[in-house]
Amino acid sequence: LNRRLDGLGTTIFAEMSALATATGAINLGQGFPDTDGPESVREAAVRALRDGRGNQYPPGPGIPELRQAIADHQRRFYGLSLDPDTEVLVTAGATEAIAATMLALLEPGDEVIAFEPFYDSYAACIAMAGAKRVPLTLRAPSFRPDLDELRSKITPQTRLLLLNTPHNPTGMVLTADEQSAIAALAVEHDLLVVTDEVYEHLVFDDAAHVPIATLPGMRERTVSISSAGKTFSFTGWKVGWVVADGPLVSAVRTAKQYLTYVSAGPFQYAVAEALRLPDSYFDGFRTDLQRKRDLLGDGLRAAGFDVYQPEGTYFITTDITPFGEKDAYAFCRALPERCGVVAIPNSVFYDDPDAGRSQVRFTFCKKDDVLHEAASRLRHLA
Ligand code: PMP
Ligand code: GLN
Repeated sequence: LNRRLDGLGTTIFAEMSALATATGAINLGQGFPDTDGPESVREAAVRALRDGRGNQYPPGPGIPELRQAIADHQRRFYGLSLDPDTEVLVTAGATEAIAATMLALLEPGDEVIAFEPFYDSYAACIAMAGAKRVPLTLRAPSFRPDLDELRSKITPQTRLLLLNTPHNPTGMVLTADEQSAIAALAVEHDLLVVTDEVYEHLVFDDAAHVPIATLPGMRERTVSISSAGKTFSFTGWKVGWVVADGPLVSAVRTAKQYLTYVSAGPFQYAVAEALRLPDSYFDGFRTDLQRKRDLLGDGLRAAGFDVYQPEGTYFITTDITPFGEKDAYAFCRALPERCGVVAIPNSVFYDDPDAGRSQVRFTFCKKDDVLHEAASRLRHLA
């Protein structure tokens, strides 16, 4: 293994899902739903497969139907106009979009400021590009970014800001004011912004997702990334996308060509249909998840965890200090044996070993009876 990948080992998601399989525990670790997305979307994939659409290499940038549907989605929800031929790129999930973007835009030695705790592929992709990650720590209980601290971390080497909102794992959703302040810094220091918005439709209560690309001066410096995995509950399909100004998309496409060239064809036809589902789909999904958030949140509180209420995503971050424990990783390794539940230690998403040491993340994208059962098992912890 080269030095760039030193220390990146096996992802925590693979490790904890393997532990769930080995022990038969309820897996509230890796974020994937236990109910597949809409029947009509599944049928669209089957139809494409049967009709021979997408069974051979689709076009490199993605099939035109999907690029058009992505552009239409950005206009429908955010009022953003995009040329589907030059400003939209289909990728193998958001994961490839992140990798291709980092490889395309970073020079060795560039600095990337990213929220910490960070989704684990960010660290790996920044490292593979030979760049340096500079964490901006989000601190409990609110996990709001400190914008003065952000300003202080910008140096002449800073090339881009890597945002993630709604934020995995904390559930923080950037407000319009925070986005404006971040945008102003990006303009002032002439920085690129890469924004991972895979949880764009998973926002609760009064929180609203504002894509930073909609703010003044940002269109030409922002790469927005999303994916069908979370919004439509098809994490196994690996259909994601990048939207940005033409020159940025063209740069990302150059890198993407040599990673996967294209992603699976029939699923692209199906996701094109999914993006056109009526508002009732998006509203219903959100309402249902919010209810599940509250169901699991109540269960975790009753079990004795400190619970940080998420404004978005399908994750709840908790703190295990009330159990007299402080090592989240050790806690998660032992949890299946102690009570038959798997969770993710947020500590692995921090550079600063102290900042998230006692934080544990649970996902609530599971059937109600699974969440009830997990909550009842966790009550036997104390
Ligand atoms: N970014 C974040 C913040 C995520 O949580 C995930 C989900 N796993 C991804 C990117 C990857 O998305 P995909 O499965 O579409 O590659
Ligand atoms: N995004 C998912 C999570 O945070 C997992 C994705 C993965 O396994 N790489 O749980």
